[in-house]
Amino acid sequence: MSPLTDFDLKERVRMAIDIVDVIGSHLELTPQGRGFVARCPWHDDRRPSLQVNPQRQTWKCWVCDIGGDIFSFVMRRDGVDFGSALRLLADKAGIEYRTASGKKAAPGSPDDKATLLAAMKFAATAYVEYLENDGSPETLRARQYLDERGISPESRQLFQIGLAPSGWSWLLDEARRAGISAEVLQAAGLAVARPGGNGFYDLFRGRLMFPIIDLQDRPISLGGRIIPGTESASSGAKYINGPETRLFSKSRQLYGLNLARAAMQRSGQVLVMEGYTDVIAARQAGVEPVVAVLGTALGERHIEILQRFVDRVVLVLDGDEAGRRRADSVLELFVGAKVDLRIITLPGGADPADFIGQHGREAFEKLAAEAPDALDHKLATLIDGVDLTRDTHRATAAIEKMLAVLARGGDPNALRTSQMLVRLSRTFAIPTEQLRNQLVQRISNQPRRAALPASHAPERVERRPPAAKLQPISGIDRELFEIMIEYPEAAAQIIEMIDPAWLLTDSARMLMQVYQDLELHGKELDLATVLLSVENEQLKNIIVGLDEAIQQRAEFITQPCQQRLADVLQRYHRSQATAETQRQLALLEASRSDDDSAAELLSDIIAAQRLQMGIRPQ
Ligand SMILES: [Zn+2]
Repeated sequence: MSPLTDFDLKERVRMAIDIVDVIGSHLELTPQGRGFVARCPWHDDRRPSLQVNPQRQTWKCWVCDIGGDIFSFVMRRDGVDFGSALRLLADKAGIEYRTASGKKAAPGSPDDKATLLAAMKFAATAYVEYLENDGSPETLRARQYLDERGISPESRQLFQIGLAPSGWSWLLDEARRAGISAEVLQAAGLAVARPGGNGFYDLFRGRLMFPIIDLQDRPISLGGRIIPGTESASSGAKYINGPETRLFSKSRQLYGLNLARAAMQRSGQVLVMEGYTDVIAARQAGVEPVVAVLGTALGERHIEILQRFVDRVVLVLDGDEAGRRRADSVLELFVGAKVDLRIITLPGGADPADFIGQHGREAFEKLAAEAPDALDHKLATLIDGVDLTRDTHRATAAIEKMLAVLARGGDPNALRTSQMLVRLSRTFAIPTEQLRNQLVQRISNQPRRAALPASHAPERVERRPPAAKLQPISGIDRELFEIMIEYPEAAAQIIEMIDPAWLLTDSARMLMQVYQDLELHGKELDLATVLLSVENEQLKNIIVGLDEAIQQRAEFITQPCQQRLADVLQRYHRSQATAETQRQLALLEASRSDDDSAAELLSDIIAAQRLQMGIRPQ
């Protein structure tokens, strides 16, 4: 995206959204001076050190040396690229933009995403209010059950747990009174159509409700759990998840990600569990980077999302047979993808909530820290209880299975594969080369993998590419841009005076290019506009750093703009002249034998020096 693409959209978004709201909905802000501060989620911050400047609409953490505007905050918070951050903020501001399909559904229609989000929010809130405020026997029983499970009132609030009454049309009736149609509830996955066009009924009845909340803190689906000892407990599955809708796709969403995100970014790891209550129990015990998959196995899309925030994924499995099978199903992810995937199998068939309850947080964190990677885990399960020297049949079977797994990776020389071959060689006393040959054989025999079918995407989010590190802007360049930021009205004139070739770093030349583009298109040259047309996070940070430095020492500088500018120009001219003198002196040195041309060069140098004096401003 070029800096001026979507400039109007960017500008509308910037005008509509206050940075204090964006950051304040994510971090706790405390007033300080003319702005706010918060604990920075990207380092272990006790101070708080993240500053928010409402006048400039910027943020900055000097400890991490990061900062920028609303866009770069969302890019960093959600691990997305600029385009995704822009769409997300446009959504938040209710600003329309052209999507890939180009079609826009009417508000109130079941095809309209904003309408579905509003319906989902309405339902989630209604369920919470019912659980917390109703005095019926079923709510009393539900609250009692949560107490028995050790789920605290704080957790109820944090995870927005609710209760769906046991009637068939409670939500439908409540929604109708609020002007939400049955068709919209159905499209949101909250109501089901009766056969034969005979109206609708509530999907969730007599269940504890766990909203699935996306990274923008919006409920997008709900999961329901039956309550033992109630009428509805005898009917249906223990858990039901909401269906796939325009808002929700179980292969792309994780329970608790909104709450775990900050801790994930801080610790670089995430624990993936299998149930809502496991996540809640872990969180209550103080283990924060925890999410759960939603009625599906951990898949490629989940990994893509998690990798935006962490580089280590620890899958926590129940120690039962089902857990073992799931460990197998993720092996391919591990061999194929570039993720450090670890597996914990809890001892004695315990689930995470039981385990943490019995052994405590430290024991659980130790287990996570020592978790073997997925391949080691697989090998350990295969040879568990096998006497490798005697039981050659089972030993061979184990080798075959491991080679089959490695073959799915497709590359016999991949680092992880090579490490595993060495490990197998040691375990089974077979030469590594022999194992590698068998593996190569297997790889060439296996059918080529078909491309994965493109699953329907509720929202395409591009992962933020790692950016090349930009040098800081320093020296004369720094003084130049500080003047341009402080006196935007003088910036157009300054652009004319500066040859970008004089600038010392790429970052300085990039920033000058931004000013030139804006000038060329007749845009303002103030801080807000400059920030808006920069999409590079690091450059945004550099600009905000300059601006903050100006703000902090504004009162000490008494020199007028023109004087400072004259000094800067003089320094540039001098350094250019010095560079030219040095170049000519080098030439002179090289051509010492040729007296005529040496004399000619010398007079050029003197002339250049005179010229430099002459152009020195008065
Ligand atoms: Zn920080």
